[in-house]
Amino acid sequence: MKDYDEALALVLDGIEPLAPESVPLPAAEGRVIAAEAHAAIDLPPFDRTAMDGFAVRAQDVHDGAVLHVIGDLAAGGGTLTVGPGEAARISTGAAIPEGADAILKVEDTTVEGASVTAHASVREGLHIRLRAEDVRAGDVLAHPGDVLTIPRLSALASAGVATVSVPRAATVSLIVTGSELLPPGAPPEPGKIYESNSLVVNALLRAVGATVTQQPPIPDDFEATKAAVEAGLESDILIVSGGVSVGPHDHVKPAFEACGVEEVFWRVRIKPGKPLWFGRRGKTLVFGLPGNPLSAIVGTAMFVLPALRSLRGEANVQPRLVKGRLGEPAGPSDNRTTFLISKLLPDADGVLVAWPTERQGSHMTGALGESDGFAIAPHGSGSLPAGAEVDLLRL
Ligand code: AMP
Ligand code: MG
Repeated sequence: MKDYDEALALVLDGIEPLAPESVPLPAAEGRVIAAEAHAAIDLPPFDRTAMDGFAVRAQDVHDGAVLHVIGDLAAGGGTLTVGPGEAARISTGAAIPEGADAILKVEDTTVEGASVTAHASVREGLHIRLRAEDVRAGDVLAHPGDVLTIPRLSALASAGVATVSVPRAATVSLIVTGSELLPPGAPPEPGKIYESNSLVVNALLRAVGATVTQQPPIPDDFEATKAAVEAGLESDILIVSGGVSVGPHDHVKPAFEACGVEEVFWRVRIKPGKPLWFGRRGKTLVFGLPGNPLSAIVGTAMFVLPALRSLRGEANVQPRLVKGRLGEPAGPSDNRTTFLISKLLPDADGVLVAWPTERQGSHMTGALGESDGFAIAPHGSGSLPAGAEVDLLRL
């Protein structure tokens, strides 16, 4: 049985980012940039005013100075030349006119007809935003592997970048198996349970930019499973939930084998989620997730999402764990790295404290309802005292 780190390394081994495509900025939010993005222009592109007021020659201005107003400059408008004893009315964002070297803000003036009286002196450069003080044309604004977050998009758009190169979105085919599964909204039936994995796994995948296709639930039947797997192998990632253990009605592994998917590992030292299966056919990554809802969540967050991040070219592919501490003693069970369903509440110092729910188990979806994620007790760590630092998987 593989440890988590070793198993994840096997999943990530050899994954190449998908082929890039060029997309307009508004469609690039949350995607990953494939090549350096350079500023097309200086920022600011020209010297401009930070204030509404008057463009003046600093040497002309002192408390009580009267200047002749020669015109009005709006943002995006034309220009003028300011001579000795002159001022041009100017609005925030407008280019500094020829001759002027400072801005006298409107609050420090009184205007009468074509004259403006200053109530303060100004120094050269006051309230002027200089060309290129922020960014120079050609500066690198994003590096390959960076996620195009909202702040980054703002930086690119301002610098005249209109399109970016991003790896195409990964396609994921999701199959849930189990003859006992009822779709949401169906009347309850004896021996049946409501299917929840497709909803949850879908949501986790979409948050990382995958295009998910979902097949209808497949009964525990070899031929049906094989046909669904064969169809799903068209995608970059195939995920099959359920049926990956060794019972007489678990057909997923034989179906993978029949379709030529090569096993890389089966079983990981984690709880829940131990029977997780991973293999490949060509470039397609194939995950068999145990059907228990918590196992499916842990398997998706800890294995599938890193693989997706790697396909989408992200620099940091690791699960997004945060450091926190235990609110009460806890530890791994069964000598496996254990994901404890927990309520996560910030302590006085802002650090999240994990309070494991009373009920723990891979099927305990009720406990999930009162949780915010998992505290991770690594295998081999023994019993951890209250206050011990742990990684948290927030959901
Ligand atoms: P399996 O991995 O097929 O052995 O399933 C393990 C447990 O998870 C069984 O109790 C199943 O009924 C349950 N299960 C399997 N698939 C799902 C699903 N899609 N949604 C909710 N529970 C499931
Ligand atoms: Mg099953």
